[in-house]
Amino acid sequence: MKNYKVATLTIAGSDCSGGAGIQADLKTFSAIGTYGMSVITAITAQNTQGVFEVEELSKNIIKKQIEVVFDDIEPSAVKIGMVSSPEIILEIANTLKKYDPKNLVVDPVMMSKSGYSLLRPEAKENMIKYLIPMAYIVTPNVPEAQEITGMKIETLEDMKIAGQKILEMGPKHVLMKGGHLKGDAIDVLIGKDIFEVYESKRLDRKNTHGTGCTISSSIASHLALGYGIKESVALSKIYITEAIKNSFDIGHGVGPVHHFY
Ligand code: PLP
Repeated sequence: MKNYKVATLTIAGSDCSGGAGIQADLKTFSAIGTYGMSVITAITAQNTQGVFEVEELSKNIIKKQIEVVFDDIEPSAVKIGMVSSPEIILEIANTLKKYDPKNLVVDPVMMSKSGYSLLRPEAKENMIKYLIPMAYIVTPNVPEAQEITGMKIETLEDMKIAGQKILEMGPKHVLMKGGHLKGDAIDVLIGKDIFEVYESKRLDRKNTHGTGCTISSSIASHLALGYGIKESVALSKIYITEAIKNSFDIGHGVGPVHHFY
């Protein structure tokens, strides 16, 4: 169901090597079939081997980018990725509030696969206070959910309890991604009167750069196209599973997932 007149916006960091961040988001939007727009929050110098440097943009230019997009083209869904500092988070939250964005997907990005911190430790509090409560859906993986809740998460039961805790912070839904736990990949979707468990066989693949960015952008695209929350998550699970199966070697480190145009 492609409809390039349906606009989707990502507010995130740039990955010059094209596997994650803004670049993964825009590829996903195009592949799913929405018109992608991007507000850049930070520029990372990274490749398949790691993140080497990060420069945050000023909160003024981030605010201005959001305003000029919304004043002209209303997105049908917005995805937020890397937001790095407490000031940037507050600016984004205050600016978005004026527009009451539809289908806000918050991916609480904290660390790159290579272990580089993409969210300053002092920014966690603002993420919890300002961004998570605004979200239609928040998409933490287990390490991020541990940071958000202060809980140790080791089992499906822990995931349910932590997911419920995050739901009580104000978002409408929480998708907790269990790929970091042992065994098969189990994700849990929690909302008011919604509790879904998605199980898929663990895929033993080396190239998984950009998985988190891709699934959250896929959910945003599907919501924008009019799918319900359960369908959007289920279709995005299929998309990311296929994207990981078709991931490929490029560069010398952890290669990217594949997109389907
Ligand atoms: N770089 C940027 C700019 C990102 O936004 C993200 C994730 O959201 C990453 C890197 C991390 O990607 P990965 O976990 O695949 O290393």
